[in-house]
Amino acid sequence: MKTDRKKIVISEFMDTQAVDSLKRHFDVCADPSLVDEPERLRDALADADALIVRNRTQVTAALLDGAPRVKVVGRLGVGLDNIALGACKDRGVRVFPATGANARAVAEYVIATSLMLLRGAYLSSAAVAQGQWPRAALSNGREAAGGTMAVIGFGGIGQLVAQLACGIGMRVAGYDPQVPADAACWQETGAQGMSFDDALRAADVVTVHVPLVESTRNLLGAAQLAMLKPHAVVINTSRGGVVDESALACALKQGRLGGAALDVFADEPLKAGSPLAGAPNLILTPHIAGLTVQSNERVGTLVASRVMHALLEGEHDSTNTRELRHGTDIIR
Ligand code: NAD
Repeated sequence: MKTDRKKIVISEFMDTQAVDSLKRHFDVCADPSLVDEPERLRDALADADALIVRNRTQVTAALLDGAPRVKVVGRLGVGLDNIALGACKDRGVRVFPATGANARAVAEYVIATSLMLLRGAYLSSAAVAQGQWPRAALSNGREAAGGTMAVIGFGGIGQLVAQLACGIGMRVAGYDPQVPADAACWQETGAQGMSFDDALRAADVVTVHVPLVESTRNLLGAAQLAMLKPHAVVINTSRGGVVDESALACALKQGRLGGAALDVFADEPLKAGSPLAGAPNLILTPHIAGLTVQSNERVGTLVASRVMHALLEGEHDSTNTRELRHGTDIIR
């Protein structure tokens, strides 16, 4: 039954406390299976006022056309490549990402995988448990301290990664064409701004933190990978397509690269038979760098708060407005 409360559709997983906080003020249809059931999603959106998604729901012009009342889209994450921003703008739909809320989770993933891959000693548990003792083979790992981390893309996550890397004694070479040489963030994070090529040549670890746009597609391709030291490791938590997976697999298999960690892929889920299969010193994770207990909570709370503000803006419901201003139940 339709009430006069506004309706929010949540088509992917959202922290349950954040969902509950929205339920106090709105009709909420929270169903993570909607992302895989386009017809049910369309039906649910027909009379909805807001949509909340992660990175799998494709918010296209066609989807918005079937959701004429939707004026607010919440994104439980940062990248907006699954949202047709032009179509949103044309229809007066405002988009609210969870900027910054999962940066710590991603930055810790980068440090953890850097240490694992440089050391190269942590992926032999099965062999050791079976009675093998590959001590000689695992005795030549590298320490991170004194090495250089190239941070490609010096936005929110890149800057946090730089701070953490400095904290474990690494030098940081940053590259970002949008960040001027005299920007305060270089000094604040302890990083040195460099050209792209110089950063790659200096790197023991290369980590990319750029959006996926035409100019960043295959930013790390065969030519760039060939500039790296043979022991260098590559980490991609940004978006699939930024690192050329075939060129990376080839460099790893030919021993021209020390290791890699990939959390994101050109095609997700990664298909069986990818050239990455069988490459040495490679960590593959299913797009979880930004997901932790704490970040899920922060992301959910932030997006719930932003969507709630947007929906209640201009409304004169005194209860909602008072709670929103005080923000006790939403903004923790
Ligand atoms: P941000 O917008 O704060 O920073 C991106 C930076 O990239 C900007 O400073 C921009 O100037 C820079 N940039 C753009 N083009 C560049 C280029 N060609 N070379 C170098 N720098 C360039 O974004 P953020 O919050 O730091 O997020 C970075 C990436 O991480 C995004 O792609 C986001 O989708 C992704 N991400 C992934 C996860 C995950 O779970 N794997 C979680 C959060 C964010």
